[in-house]
Amino acid sequence: MNETVTGWGFIGASTVAREHMLAAVRAQPGHAVVAIASGDAARARAFAEENAIPRACDGVPALLADPAVQAVYISSTNEQHRDHALAAIAAGKHVLCEKPLATAVEDARRMVEAARRAGVLFATNHHLRNAATHRKVRELVEAGAIGRPLFARIFHAIYLRPQVQGWRIDSAAAGGGVILDIGVHAADTLRFALGAEPVEVVGMSQAGFLSKNGVEDGVMAVLRMDNGVLAQIHAAYTVRHAETGFEVHGEQGSIVARDVMTVRPAGEVVLRDAEGARVMPVEHEGLYVTGVRRFCEAMVGRGQPAASGEDGVRSLQTALAIAEACRSGTAVRIAPRG
Ligand code: NDP
Repeated sequence: MNETVTGWGFIGASTVAREHMLAAVRAQPGHAVVAIASGDAARARAFAEENAIPRACDGVPALLADPAVQAVYISSTNEQHRDHALAAIAAGKHVLCEKPLATAVEDARRMVEAARRAGVLFATNHHLRNAATHRKVRELVEAGAIGRPLFARIFHAIYLRPQVQGWRIDSAAAGGGVILDIGVHAADTLRFALGAEPVEVVGMSQAGFLSKNGVEDGVMAVLRMDNGVLAQIHAAYTVRHAETGFEVHGEQGSIVARDVMTVRPAGEVVLRDAEGARVMPVEHEGLYVTGVRRFCEAMVGRGQPAASGEDGVRSLQTALAIAEACRSGTAVRIAPRG
């Protein structure tokens, strides 16, 4: 192998790896996916063959023992992220881990702390932070374009494609359910765009319309942010014809973004104020390509990943607070950072 190539090992023969992350790594000059590991050796072999990955490993330890692997991307099911990440960190690899980082906040904190001690980069794959539309919303809020922000609304109700239903709709043990899957992205989007942290949440959820075993397939929650903003999250797996959107309403104006809660580089951001309504210019770029580029740059000491490990912890903490609020029927406070 060419010595200048940074080798990536993928843990998880997953849909997101196949549909987005292989191409995102391959788009980075000097980076290549050199190995794949799965919980099932035959699935890893088939995935490697179908996706032109040179090596299929017989398990995660074999992948982590490979000196050609310097960076690891983890997209196994949610309950496995913790052990896969801790093993990769212990092996001295940089780690880009899928959201939710774990199924418990303490586990996610352990992952971040282990990486800090080991001196490796650890980041969360919250892809929406890389959307030109989301960056534009953040920029407008930060620049004071709408005055003091008062309210935010995220609509991320979709119909879950049959090919990714599986564990998401029937297994709480695997970290399934719409709150940990989509709600965690919504929480991260609010934190990112508003530059504020959630402090309290109320919510109600649905189950059983598409899901089984009591796993949630729809949720509505209201969060109070530490800058006073009230934010609404609507996330679902069961809605076939809704548009996705993100709005922030301030004292002097409103930002209305449509078709932006998506994996596609798409959508529109409109600023409405006393001057009228204008579409804001954005330059769309692949969300995963941008995210991996920022991770690659951070690996060599240039800048920060789009979403840090700590971001993953905070967004998970928020999602778990939403789940707890739905279960208990009471307002749940979110402990401040630290
Ligand atoms: P998949 O269900 O496609 O894959 C998850 C795991 O399921 C795989 O790692 C694989 O295990 C196992 N699996 C896959 N196919 C089969 C099969 N035919 N039979 C049995 N097991 C199978 O999940 P996703 O790709 O949708 O999600 C993976 C992770 O990525 C999750 O943590 C999710 O939250 C996250 N995600 C993030 C997105 C983002 O935009 N940031 C988008 C989508 C998902 P094994 O590896 O052991 O073979």
